Amino acid sequence: MSAEGLDNDHDFPEGALVSVLTTQPIDRFLDYKAPEGGCSIGSFVEVPLGPRKTLGVVWDKGDGKFDPSKIRKISRVLDVAPMGQDMRDFLSRAAEYTITPLTQMLRLATRAPGLSDPPSMQKIYRLGDGVPDRMTPARTRVIETLQEYGGLGFTLGEVANLAGVSTSVVKGLVKFGTVLELDTPRDGPFPTLQAGFGAVDLTEDQYSAAEELRKSVATEDYESFLLKGVTGSGKTEVYMEAIAECLRKGRQALVLLPEIALTAEFLSRVEKRFGARPAEWHSGVTMTERRRVWRMVGEGNAQLVVGARSALYLPFRDLGLIVVDEEHDTSYKQDDGVLYSARDMSVLRATYCGATVILASATPSLETWANAEAGKYRRLDLESRFGEAQLPDLKAIDMRSEQLPSARWISPTLTAAVKARVDAGEQALLFINRRGYAPTTLCRACGVQIGCEQCDARMVEHRFLKRLVCHQCGETKPMPTACPSCEVEGKLAPIGPGVERLAEEVAELFPDARVAVLSSDLFGSARALKEQITSIAEGGADIIIGTQLVAKGHNFPNLTLVGVIDADLGLQGSDLRAAERSFQLMRQVSGRAGRSEKKGVALLQTYQPEHPVIRAILSGDEEAFWQAEAHERQAAGVPPYGRMAGIVLSSPDVQAVFDLGADMARRDAPLRKIGAQVFGPAPAPIARIRGRHRVRLLVKAEKSVPLQRALSEWAVQFKIPANLRLSIDIDPQNFY
Ligand SMILES: [Zn+2]
Ligand SMILES: [Zn+2]
Repeated sequence: MSAEGLDNDHDFPEGALVSVLTTQPIDRFLDYKAPEGGCSIGSFVEVPLGPRKTLGVVWDKGDGKFDPSKIRKISRVLDVAPMGQDMRDFLSRAAEYTITPLTQMLRLATRAPGLSDPPSMQKIYRLGDGVPDRMTPARTRVIETLQEYGGLGFTLGEVANLAGVSTSVVKGLVKFGTVLELDTPRDGPFPTLQAGFGAVDLTEDQYSAAEELRKSVATEDYESFLLKGVTGSGKTEVYMEAIAECLRKGRQALVLLPEIALTAEFLSRVEKRFGARPAEWHSGVTMTERRRVWRMVGEGNAQLVVGARSALYLPFRDLGLIVVDEEHDTSYKQDDGVLYSARDMSVLRATYCGATVILASATPSLETWANAEAGKYRRLDLESRFGEAQLPDLKAIDMRSEQLPSARWISPTLTAAVKARVDAGEQALLFINRRGYAPTTLCRACGVQIGCEQCDARMVEHRFLKRLVCHQCGETKPMPTACPSCEVEGKLAPIGPGVERLAEEVAELFPDARVAVLSSDLFGSARALKEQITSIAEGGADIIIGTQLVAKGHNFPNLTLVGVIDADLGLQGSDLRAAERSFQLMRQVSGRAGRSEKKGVALLQTYQPEHPVIRAILSGDEEAFWQAEAHERQAAGVPPYGRMAGIVLSSPDVQAVFDLGADMARRDAPLRKIGAQVFGPAPAPIARIRGRHRVRLLVKAEKSVPLQRALSEWAVQFKIPANLRLSIDIDPQNFY
């Protein structure tokens, strides 16, 4: 279907005044005249702006306030599907909610290269009826392969690959008309998914949850669900049924995943269930493919998109279902550019297009839990684990009574447990949430800790890379031999454990075991990581050492022991979500053990076995934990029971940020009017990043007040110096 076909009633004839939203940072709509052939509300257009041309969307009729003789004409209407009313409403509301200029939201929604280029063509090959001069085994294979796929056409490389021949064999057959060479648009539709293709048997528990979701999708009205199930309870099988219903309805579905490394496994599951692969959208997708996805989603020729948070801004033609898998994952919050939570924006988007939202997690965020408690979301619980698997036994190892030599982190109790598993031919996982070799490098001569020159952060030794790395700004430098401060040689010492250092300890304790280290920075690509994960799952390692990466849904069937090296690590800190995060992470990690028929054990090394979070984890009484946490937040009036905004001012000029911060705290009338309080200015927890000094203010308000409007009124009072950046983060997730 071409864009012309979608766009049958042109609201604006040639010359009519229209109001266009461009992607350029101008804080208003611009008037233009409709081009030859007219245009419609929602049309993607190219417009002249100064000496350049820029992308825009026709938003409304023109307001006529400008001198008509100066109004220029739209250069052309692009050959892509127009933006729907639901998408325009969603972008407007999302802009208001995040206090972001609408032009910037439009940039988010048009992040595909070459949208204004004419459709590019490619050659495809399919079977013709010409007869070749002679047959060879290779030629026969090409013909048989193309016959097998019916009338489907493939690129030259694909045909050659499928038939296992060189491309010249295919080209040879073109000469005789046995194979036809045809020009087709590169941005072709995605293969059709079939709702009934590979339906699986569900347990009773799964079936009743799937039925609720299916019914909701069938109504084509907005509704949100919390789909809560322990690791291995088969949440994916359940929401696949909701996708199936969405396909039957002829609507589109979107599945958001927290991490690219999980995508490959998920795509094969989709293929098994629906007979074809869906569209994929994340930073690892090539530019030409992104463009194809964007266009096909807009035309309704991609039924299912699997991707990262930004997939939410694709121009779906008729979106009927959004799944946010592992909804508690912090990667759903975008922390630079437009600050938004993909989880919250999913719900917002769904309200405009009449879609069902499924927030799936074993350990939901407190926000989602509270929304379910309040009856805003419906809650579906999957209790039983899929198959015979059971939840692991959770136990603490009290580190106060363990005898550990210095610079050693694996207690004798944990060592014995690991040894028993390895001897039994099973796998053990040791978890430490710290990348690199050691978090601190200390000079034993002068006592200095090596820090980043750009940030207020220590540099972390990465022995694998032989470098020091700043985890804030990414700055790296070779590991020095002499202290950068006192210049004494050979006195630099690593302090504390990171994942690489733990690997050394494991190699000493278990010289015969096969050890695999899983940390995001050890892999050049998502593919290399995926290969390593597959190899581990197939039994390619006895002991796995991992960072947070292992908590994210990878499945190791032979894993029966999880040892958490430092269960106390997340408990400190001023972050209001510290307890929640720690609880989720520990539950996720311990859930890695015993996912098949073997029962697992999780052992938590802690110096604070009486800490409420540690006790909640051990008791397995999650509801009690959430109740207690909810109670505390309610008492403090913080999210999700109150509202918060984080304001960060940053500049190379330290005086400027403090001056502006103090001025903002003083002139807070618009905020006081709604009963909001301003805290600060104070140096941000990381007071300098990439050479910019950072000052933070926090605004707290009651849940029901119009916070965004007040914040906008407040911020607009101040003149912001050119080199100073002000960012407003609604519902901040990270306090740094
Ligand atoms: Zn020194
Ligand atoms: Zn740095």
